[in-house]
Amino acid sequence: MTKIKGTNPIVELDGDEMARVVWRWVKEQLILPYVDLDIRYYDMGLPNRDATDDRVTTEAAEAIKRFNVGVKCAAINPDQARVEEYGLKKAWKSPNAQVRNIVGGTLFRQPIICRNVPRRVPHWTKPIFVARHAFGDQFAATDIRVPGEGTLYLRFVPKDGGEEILQEVYQFPGAGVALGMYNLDDSIRGFALSCMRVALEQGLPLFLGTKNTALKVYDQRFKDIFEEVYRDEFQAQFEAKGIYYEHRMVDELAAHAIKSEGGFVYACKNHDGDVQSDMVAEAFGSLGLMASVLITPDGNTIQTEAAHGTITRHYREHQAGRETSTNPIASIFAWTQSIAYRGKFDGAPELEDFAKALETSCVETVEAGFMTKDLARLAKQQEWLTTRQFIAKVDETLRANLS
Ligand code: NAP
Ligand code: MG
Repeated sequence: MTKIKGTNPIVELDGDEMARVVWRWVKEQLILPYVDLDIRYYDMGLPNRDATDDRVTTEAAEAIKRFNVGVKCAAINPDQARVEEYGLKKAWKSPNAQVRNIVGGTLFRQPIICRNVPRRVPHWTKPIFVARHAFGDQFAATDIRVPGEGTLYLRFVPKDGGEEILQEVYQFPGAGVALGMYNLDDSIRGFALSCMRVALEQGLPLFLGTKNTALKVYDQRFKDIFEEVYRDEFQAQFEAKGIYYEHRMVDELAAHAIKSEGGFVYACKNHDGDVQSDMVAEAFGSLGLMASVLITPDGNTIQTEAAHGTITRHYREHQAGRETSTNPIASIFAWTQSIAYRGKFDGAPELEDFAKALETSCVETVEAGFMTKDLARLAKQQEWLTTRQFIAKVDETLRANLS
């Protein structure tokens, strides 16, 4: 078989523990034999982050910005226990948060659906893409304890001398708590752009949920900006594809999601997205079936990954010399999605076709009854394969599909 020739570079960020082990198997058996890629490798495993004083993380993120496509293995976000386990200089910052801060953009989570793997919400037969606005709001807020009776104000001082805004928030009758939070028009606009691009690419309708009846200025701003971006840049393209954008009340949207068959992009403000992405992931069945992609507002830079972590429990088994049945599908999709975007950016449809073939082969393998233990448990099936047996089966299916 002749290898498909890659185009511009793909930046690879290696990770830790079982995710790292599975990552290498996937790359060696399902990617490298088929595609000749220009891979720029960064070892973001914890030992190398420590050895480089975490410079490798910044360098890797900068490389993604330069080459526009990154694929990332799950990596440990170290706490004090990890500092001791690995003898670290310190508890380095979350590698994901750092990469996201440098690359920017919106995080989309996409479930991979196999007909024979039951979902906790069984009628979700189509994927739901949860898009989380990862800027501002509660996650960047300033909160205080109010010691007792008194008045709380919101005060804005313009940089260039203009008129101050001073607004009373509340007259506290006694002790309590208070919070100041913010967002930016530019960031909201970027969020709207990413969501609309993904909806268009996927051919799915887009919903934004806010509570603009309660936050008549704050949430209304999200609603207005989305409407503006839709009207000015996307409406015609959406209509041509037979899809649409709608704003819904956040609570009504949650109810709609549960009643629906899936098949939409779910745009969530930062806090809602934190909650909804985990809930939707769990409802679709397994973390091993959840892929994730970070997309910048201009749509020109992406970074893919599996949604799960480094799967420490399985790694302990692996270290003890036992074969594990760790699901490699989300890692495979991290690779296929970055290869597909590379193909799309560079006008190389053969890369997109290969990615599609490998994704289809994963789903077909599972639907033929060959699966790892996590899925077998859900499908109430006795037989399951080890990770390596499963990867070999996917490879068999892929060879058949490609020839
Ligand atoms: P995890 O790695 O997601 O694993 C939690 C459990 O979920 C596993 O023990 C396993 O359940 C199941 N699971 C997850 N992925 C699976 C797969 N591919 N196949 C089969 N089962 C799978 O979460 P964690 O153990 O809480 O976190 C471990 C480390 O990962 C932490 O140090 C954390 O910092 C890091 N983390 C990194 C990322 C990232 O880089 N994106 C994200 C999250 C966490 P069973 O034990 O029941 O088999
Ligand atoms: Mg969370």
